[in-house]
Order: sequence, then C-alpha cells, then structure tokens
Amino acid sequence: MAKAKRRRGRSIKERIEHQVKTRDDDTRDFRPVLDFSNAKKKPANFKPQKGKQRISILPYTVSGNNHPDLKEGDMDYKLQIYIHQGVGVNNDSIICMNRTFGKPCYICEERKRLMDDGYEWDSDEVAALGSSKRCWYNVEVPGQEDKGVQIWHKASWKNFEKRLCSTAEEDYEEIIIFADLEAGAYVDFKGVENSFGKIKYIDFENFSLKERPELSEDKLDEVYQLDDLLIIPTYEEVKALFLGMDTEETEKSDDEEEETEEKEKEEKPKTSRRKPKKEAEEADDDCPFHHTFGTDCNKTDDCDDCDEEIFTKCLDAQENMESDTKGKKKFKRK
Ligand SMILES: [Zn+2]
Repeated sequence: MAKAKRRRGRSIKERIEHQVKTRDDDTRDFRPVLDFSNAKKKPANFKPQKGKQRISILPYTVSGNNHPDLKEGDMDYKLQIYIHQGVGVNNDSIICMNRTFGKPCYICEERKRLMDDGYEWDSDEVAALGSSKRCWYNVEVPGQEDKGVQIWHKASWKNFEKRLCSTAEEDYEEIIIFADLEAGAYVDFKGVENSFGKIKYIDFENFSLKERPELSEDKLDEVYQLDDLLIIPTYEEVKALFLGMDTEETEKSDDEEEETEEKEKEEKPKTSRRKPKKEAEEADDDCPFHHTFGTDCNKTDDCDDCDEEIFTKCLDAQENMESDTKGKKKFKRK
C-alpha cells in the first residue's frame, strides 16, 4: 500500500490515529502538572476501569524539592496537592500554590474578587475557580507487569484516597500500611461509572486490602520521586495561563457578546466571566407595577390586576429566563 502523501507537518491520518488512541486520555494535558520529560523513562498512565480491579501502591523516597509536608529522605506513597482545572484556553490543570503551599495564587484571588463582587460561593463562576485535592501514585497492576511502574494521575482524594484510608484504618484489626514494601497490601476496589452533568467519570467503591508478597528495596529504584517531578509555576505564569482566555474575551465587541450569550445556553459556563445578568435590569420598566418583568410574574397581588397581554409576555419571559439561567451563575445584588 502506497504511503500517504506527505505535506508539511502531520498528515490527517496520523492526526486522527493519534486522536483515536488518546480520546479517553484525560491525563494528556497541554500543560502537565508533573513533568516526566527528564525521568529515566516515561511511565505508562494507569487508568482505572469499570468493574473489579487490583493495584499495588508503591512507596517512594521524598526528594525534598517540592513536597508539601515531608522532607528529603522521608517516605511517602502519594503526592497530594490542590489543583485548579479547566484553566485558560486549553482547559489546563495547574497546581494551586495557595492551598498546597500557602503561597499567593492568582486564580484563588480572582475567586475571592468574584465573591467580593457579590457572586455566591456556590455559583458556577465561583465553583469554576475552586481547587480540588488530587493525588498522584506509583502503581503496579498484577497482569500488567510489562508496563512496569505506572503513574495514576490526578486521582480524586475524596473518591479514592479518603476511602482507601478509611478502609485501611477501620475495616481491619490494625491499620494496614498498604504501601509498605514488607507489610504492604494489594488494594482491591470496584470502578463504577458515574456522571456529573455531562462529564462521565469512574467512581470507586467496595475497597478491600489483600496480603501481597514482600517487595525488595530495589523497588525504590523503579518508582518515581513524585515531589521532584512537580512543576512549580510562578505567580505570573499562573496569571498568564488564566488570563489567556480573559484577554480574548475582553477584546470582543458588544455585538459579539450577544452572540456569545446565545452560544452559552448550550455550553458549560466558562470561568472568569464577570457579567451580571442584564435582561432583568433592562426589562424592569416593562412591568406596570414596577416589579421585575420576567422575574416576578404571578408572585404579587398586583399581577391579578395586570393587563393580560403584558402578563402573558411576562410569563413567557420568565419561562425563557428560567431555562436560560439553568447551569448559570447566581448573582447577588448589593
Ligand atoms: Zn489557587
């Protein structure tokens, strides 16, 4: 078979093949949180599946370079940090320097500014700028020995680590040191498909710990020193990554802004959008009784006396507005 004719750069065939292979690879960030480019070899990414599975979590020696709690030579079995997700035009993940190390973080500051502007803490805008606690692990999977030590990226602390620790502490007579080389245990659990809005993810349940063969000290040469691989961005780098999107948006004309709002009805709300809702304000005067047109329909006694045509329009507006605001911000007026 003749080779595909090559123009500049990648062919569409290569591009599609790559996309097909990596379509489920949520660790393929444009900007990684950990940098493995100088590692002895690039580890395989562990990806939890649906159904029962068994993994072995391995310890590593802390390098002391970037560990949030431990110092050089200490042992750990995970790297637990806070990250902001969906940052900038490429939806990157980036460490939250504030919650991980107590240092300034532009995104956390922006989140606070939104709340100072009147956005509720649980509004989509504020939530989008929140950070979540995530863990990285060195793991081995029985039956996948050819892959060697794999890295589990961005595992949910809440759905995995916390439940694992609770199993290790509460389900056995003594605390199981599951990542210990000598006294360690296999971690068994069940992956269950779950969803949050449109996003599907694997949740974890039915944890149990099973005796595993003793591992030699040599294992410590195979694992990755996770804290050493952590990328520590400067404050300015975080700000630039975050504002990559904002800058673009502020360049939009008012005409374009209207189009954007149309599109947003179908889209997930974006981070750092700071416009209070305009419709209700503009329509205020349309109510003959000076209530908020399209918002207060049928909520006051005055509505009984309202002209039927205005009342119907107001009701329509309210219904449209309710569907528009689904999944959108809550804005508290001062
Ligand atoms: Zn932060």
